[in-house]
Amino acid sequence: MNTAPDTNTTSGDGAAGTIRIALAGIGKIARDQHIPHLAANSRFALVAAVTSHTPPEGVPGYRTIAEMMQAVPDVQAISICTPPRGRLALIEEALSHGLDVMIEKPPAATLSEAEDFVRLARDAGRVLFTTWHSREAAGVEPARAWLAERTIRRVQVTWKEDVRVWHPGQAWIWEPGIGVFDPGINALSVITHILPRPLLLQEAALRFPSNRPAPIAADLSFTDTAGIPVEVAFDFDQRGPQTWDIDVETDRGNLKLSMGASKMYVDGVEQDVGDEPEYARLYRRFADLLDRRESDVDLSPFRHVADAFLLGRRTEVGAFEE
Ligand code: NAP
Repeated sequence: MNTAPDTNTTSGDGAAGTIRIALAGIGKIARDQHIPHLAANSRFALVAAVTSHTPPEGVPGYRTIAEMMQAVPDVQAISICTPPRGRLALIEEALSHGLDVMIEKPPAATLSEAEDFVRLARDAGRVLFTTWHSREAAGVEPARAWLAERTIRRVQVTWKEDVRVWHPGQAWIWEPGIGVFDPGINALSVITHILPRPLLLQEAALRFPSNRPAPIAADLSFTDTAGIPVEVAFDFDQRGPQTWDIDVETDRGNLKLSMGASKMYVDGVEQDVGDEPEYARLYRRFADLLDRRESDVDLSPFRHVADAFLLGRRTEVGAFEE
């Protein structure tokens, strides 16, 4: 967490006013989550979009941030939903126009890019929120509190989904880059938040389809700094039911986070954690950061992905078929 100097208010009428926000990149996640949750949040007014295709209904669209700022100069913040590659230039442009910035996960194409825009936002005195939507899942904070009072013995993460369902026809997901870690980083964002000690990667195995330059599956072995084992299995080729589970064995019971941490079980018994959607909480948090003029930047899940590529043994597997 770092703090930006207070050089802006979130509205012309004080910290609790309406925040005039733009969306950049009107693709699957913008349409599935950002647009409906912005519409449902009275703190925000979606006043413009930066898009090379179709803007959300009733919202004016512009090809660039500069064009948008000329037409709608009172935009205060932008939420960036483009793929990670190319975000640095967008963020730089947003900051140069005095905008506060929220970005989708994963933060960037490389660690150096992410570190660069963190520095740029700090120097510009703007709020930067590098989001981790899975950290907002309903079971995450209850799990963190439950684990804080126990001694952890081992952790198993199983995060397996079908890329065809979640990234239909998206070319960028298979470009050189993180591949299966695009969903896997969601699990890493949860375990880096709920576990009490930092993680250290010990071994990694990355599996690359013969016809794609990004991994389709990965197995990671971490220990935490006290030596507790944390085993992780990621797969992007899971047909049928999808699996987004985290199992934690402790000295006093077993915790399970399931369905992307939206459900929590203790010794097999479901706990009441509520059902507030991740993106409702994300935008509530962004409004709060804007009111406080604070940035929220944690690159640790992304650093673990980079470590996997540093240490990982690579094998080639069968061709990926759409
Ligand atoms: P997507 O459907 O491909 O949409 C991305 C949008 O970004 C495009 O529609 C396009 O918007 C714009 N864009 C700019 N440069 C692009 C490029 N080089 N290639 C493709 N699109 C480009 O992707 P998405 O699934 O929404 O994912 C976007 C981000 O959200 C990723 O970081 C992803 O990890 C994250 N995310 C995705 C999901 C999911 O379920 N898919 C869930 C959570 C988070 P315009 O047409 O408006 O120009």
